[in-house]
Amino acid sequence: PPAPVLRAAQHADVARLLPVPARESDKYARGVLGLVAGSERYPGAAVLATGAALRGGAGAVRYVGPRPVGDAVLAAHPEVLVGDGRVQAYAVGAGLDTGSEARARLATVLDAGVPVLVDADGLTLLAELGKSALARVPGALLTPHAGEAVRLLAGLGLATTRADVEAERLATAAELAAGYGATVLLKGSTTVIADPYGETWANPTGTPYLATAGSGDVLTGLAGALLATGLRPVDAAVCAAYLHGLAGRLASADGVPCAASDVAAAAPRAWAEVRRA
Ligand code: AMP
Ligand code: MG
Repeated sequence: PPAPVLRAAQHADVARLLPVPARESDKYARGVLGLVAGSERYPGAAVLATGAALRGGAGAVRYVGPRPVGDAVLAAHPEVLVGDGRVQAYAVGAGLDTGSEARARLATVLDAGVPVLVDADGLTLLAELGKSALARVPGALLTPHAGEAVRLLAGLGLATTRADVEAERLATAAELAAGYGATVLLKGSTTVIADPYGETWANPTGTPYLATAGSGDVLTGLAGALLATGLRPVDAAVCAAYLHGLAGRLASADGVPCAASDVAAAAPRAWAEVRRA
């Protein structure tokens, strides 16, 4: 097949896509995100992803996970709902761990009949299950970094290395998108996005200061929330990567290192910058 052509997202592309609540909207109409993340081993991922999701344009974020993690999430973010309930999309995998409880939670999410973002430990489990695991998901978005992309390719029976992925980032994203029938956002110094129908994007925003623990969890929260508002997976991916990169720049302005929580806190200013343009 011909090599896919890359287009860098612009302010105007993102401004056009970002959801604006209708005058009559209530929180359910704006979309509810179900966040399946965190574990007793990695509680922080749930806290970070939730904090970002609350700034991603959905009407509510529902945290689903172990009770002690839910307590930590609530202590940091009192706006969050906890426990099962109706959602318009799920984001699963950040800090989820890979034990039997995580497997059961992933299986439930993949059967829920709503769009699903899969990240981190969720991708490790998905690679084991193979492409058929997404068969019942109406709109999947996978957000691997290079190491997770290697595992996902292995799940398709393709042996590669991180170096191979870094050398062929767009081709890798496109191959994963076709193989899993999902939109793929391949993270890295230049994030690229490919959907299963051949649409591809490069993200021009970002900063190496985003190479910090928890940064990917913030992206998961933003992209998951956008998915819950009803954006197509590819549009949610383009907007989330763009806002995440801008927020990283704002949080680390003048060359000051930032924490992943600062990136989540800067998301509203990134959103405002896009709207202003
Ligand atoms: P994760 O590896 O899951 O924590 O995700 C890291 C996040 O930071 C992704 O959104 C990457 O695209 C971003 N990131 C990591 N390194 C860089 C870099 N050198 N330049 C720009 N963005 C980066
Ligand atoms: Mg990650």
